[in-house]
Amino acid sequence: MEHIGHWVAGRRVPGSSGRTAPVHDPARGVQTAEVALASAGEVDEVVAVASEAAASWGASSLTTRATAMFRLRELLDAHRDDLAALVTREHGKVLDDARGEVARAIENVEFACGVPHLLKGSVSSEVSTGIDVQTVLEPLGVVAGITPFNFPVMVPMWMMANAVACGNAFVLKPSEKDPSASLLLAELVQRAGVPDGVVNVVHGDAEAVDALLTHPGVAAVSFVGSTPVARHVYETATGNGKRAQALGGAKNHMVVLPDADLDAAADAAISAGYGSAGERCMAISVVVAVGDIGDALVEAIAARIPDVVVGPGDDPTSMMGPLISEQHRDRVRGYVTGATEEGARVVVDGSTPPRPDGFFLGCSLIDDVKPGMRVYDDEIFGPVLSVVRAASLDEAVSVINAVPYGNGVALFTRDGAAARRFQRTVQIGMVGINVPIPVPVASHSFGGWKDSLFGGTPIYGPEGLRFYTRPKVVTSRWPGGAGSAIDLGFPTTR
Ligand code: NAD
Repeated sequence: MEHIGHWVAGRRVPGSSGRTAPVHDPARGVQTAEVALASAGEVDEVVAVASEAAASWGASSLTTRATAMFRLRELLDAHRDDLAALVTREHGKVLDDARGEVARAIENVEFACGVPHLLKGSVSSEVSTGIDVQTVLEPLGVVAGITPFNFPVMVPMWMMANAVACGNAFVLKPSEKDPSASLLLAELVQRAGVPDGVVNVVHGDAEAVDALLTHPGVAAVSFVGSTPVARHVYETATGNGKRAQALGGAKNHMVVLPDADLDAAADAAISAGYGSAGERCMAISVVVAVGDIGDALVEAIAARIPDVVVGPGDDPTSMMGPLISEQHRDRVRGYVTGATEEGARVVVDGSTPPRPDGFFLGCSLIDDVKPGMRVYDDEIFGPVLSVVRAASLDEAVSVINAVPYGNGVALFTRDGAAARRFQRTVQIGMVGINVPIPVPVASHSFGGWKDSLFGGTPIYGPEGLRFYTRPKVVTSRWPGGAGSAIDLGFPTTR
């Protein structure tokens, strides 16, 4: 049985806590490895290594850091298929989808290549006679990233690229469910010329996470995962004096107005609802059919479901892979089998696993869903699409605004005025207009509202740079200008 250990000071080290967790191939339902679960003591050792590396890396030139990012970009490009294969093996998503995740990871490194420009800071010359003010952006020191199972390459890179380019040392605690891709990422970072100790990977569960959240050597914590853990991470990290951003779960709606292109809307619902088996934080979970388009839309979505080929991610004919674990598969199935009792109508029942091995489910479509039903209120995180009927756009917006999550939302329409009203009134952080999965490109930033993001700072892009640096403002005057005099008054500009 393969033992997956940590990456510390530029090399793989086995875990020493004696605790491990099983890693599965979800397409076959078998255990493939065990991953080490770090103790608080092991986390302490990793933070010590990172602290030492942070001191010199933070003082390195911008050219050194940008050069490393350019090299990393090339190495990631060369290893796209290796990374995607690791993701498919442990997560289960189909290879094409895994390659898409790797491509979106690389985008973040491309953004970070611009670090000499991005960290320019600002200067005000002659704010008073002979006095200049400059704001410089300095690294924080050691920053930690805690990531979920559903994007084992992209989400770590949302954090790592900017954190490292800004001159910090980074400790990654990946999901214990699919830990292998993080180790290849760390190796590529080393080959790119980033000094050992600047990027470290420590595997673990709540014990390792809590050790990072309370460690005095960690200056900031980025978290992506479910809402209850995000809340815990945010409260614990900030309670221990750290800067924190904690991205949580989601319940994303797609509103379809009567004038929408029906085929485009149905295609989008299938792609965004069942892609990656619904295990995306930006997956569409609820279709809100407005006015008289409802019946035709449900029919169009149902008609497309048999075309979705469910199978192992490494089979090129598969369109949708398995769920992450048996336990999660059974939890998702429970929402479908319980929907009728809640008063909803199961139009397509995918609750019978379509294959005997692995953690597979079929696609389910449930109509007449209403707020208050479990199938509506909970984040299901599986291939289950609910349909809610609404009489008007305003009613659709008020249903969406009552949801505690605020990650993504989409509107399908041909009406520009309606789209504009929608984007101004909907209380959601990322909005798609005829775009079902509006994940911003890396030159913007990603962040939901409400229970989808604690701490208010979106991740990656310009907001990521702000998160991983702190401003220092220097006010200076040089001898040789105006003479000096004693003045006990508060300094004013003259
Ligand atoms: P999770 O919350 O179970 O785990 C996330 C991380 O937290 C993992 O590294 C895990 O080891 C750690 N963790 C789990 N329980 C913990 C605890 N009690 N104390 C401390 N740490 C703990 O999430 P997941 O199942 O890996 O990922 C799926 C969730 O992530 C979904 O809710 C999804 O919406 C969310 N997600 C959100 C975004 C976003 O950008 N908002 C992106 C991807 C995933």
